[in-house]
Amino acid sequence: MPAASGARHKSKCKEAKSMSYLTLKDINKIYPNGFHAVHNFNLDIDKGEFIVFVGPSGCGKSTTLRMIAGLEDISNGEFLINGKRANELGPREREVAMVFQSYALYPQMTVFDNIAFGLTLQGVDEEVIEEKVKNTARILGLTDYLDRLPRALSGGQRQRVAIGRAIIRKVGVFLMDEPLSNLDAKQRVTMRSEIAQIHRETGATTIYVTHDQTEAMTLADRIVVMKDGYVQQTGTPYELYHNPVNVFVAGFIGEPPMNFIRARVKGGRIPFGPNTLDVASRLGNKAAQYEGKEIVFGFRPESIELGAREDAYQVSAQVELTEMLGDNANVYITAGEDKAILKVDPHDTPEIDSSIIFSIPYGDVYLFDGETEKVIERVLEKSR
Ligand code: ATP
Repeated sequence: MPAASGARHKSKCKEAKSMSYLTLKDINKIYPNGFHAVHNFNLDIDKGEFIVFVGPSGCGKSTTLRMIAGLEDISNGEFLINGKRANELGPREREVAMVFQSYALYPQMTVFDNIAFGLTLQGVDEEVIEEKVKNTARILGLTDYLDRLPRALSGGQRQRVAIGRAIIRKVGVFLMDEPLSNLDAKQRVTMRSEIAQIHRETGATTIYVTHDQTEAMTLADRIVVMKDGYVQQTGTPYELYHNPVNVFVAGFIGEPPMNFIRARVKGGRIPFGPNTLDVASRLGNKAAQYEGKEIVFGFRPESIELGAREDAYQVSAQVELTEMLGDNANVYITAGEDKAILKVDPHDTPEIDSSIIFSIPYGDVYLFDGETEKVIERVLEKSR
């Protein structure tokens, strides 16, 4: 899935590389109380792209989205639409439609009237409105609900009405701020695929904010990972998963998260519980530079194999807990003080308290600098 998204984006870029549709150039937000919420945010967005801003609570995602929408002033930097400065344009002039966390539907109006609201305000001809509402309702699977009031709808249906209200206006950009956060887990999965479908049908440029990495991975052409107001990395889901630039991105993308063993290099090796792993050969000409320094050894739960394999680190460990998840199982292991999660075939799930050996293929290991937390370059290249 991530690979497909990446390929999709690449071909799109080839077609239209002359000028980006939206450009964020060194955008900063400093709130009136002096809080610097967004630092030097840079991004070029092509027409039709699905961009997701992801990161933990408070990292500046919504602030950035609201600056794009024209709901917050940009303190510093430039926002361009089709190459023209748009900082001073109001929300309407920017041709954006926003879908918020709370659906903000009018409770006394039917689904039809809620969807039609923007067009009615603009004084659009009734027949045209009727046709557009019906077409929008068809895309969203709301045809049978047009006469209902919002209170007689499920959460997912309400969210679709809110999306309908946005997509009925012919705007250039859809901005969505955590649109699925009020839904339960099952509804979120359904709505997620519906949003992807709507994007395919409308082809509209979309910027979507979430703190959920699965939503980001499944929806995005490109993801922007943020932390503490700073962009950590921008890339396709495939790039972020395979080539994270730092410990934060490596740990944020992927479920269960990447395992990290933090240790000091001694004689070219690091301890992993009772095991000692040769990292010098992975570090190559940087081995001397890291001797005596702390590094972070990372591997994904799904990249291990049970048993001893060639071309792999072999680690002995104790099984602490297992979790059966249907098509796979999580195995929580300890090796001395170190802990990790392994994702295995459910048929191979080891017994709790048993001793196991597992292998981490050399090519699937990530090494990060313990101080800067950045990936060590040679390893980044090798793990591609
Ligand atoms: P969440 O997922 O919780 O919505 P977020 O990543 O969208 O988080 P923002 O809402 O953009 O984060 O907020 C970024 C930071 O700016 C937070 O620390 C927040 O407290 C702060 N902030 C937001 N609005 C204001 C404001 N009006 N004045 C001062 N600080 C603000």
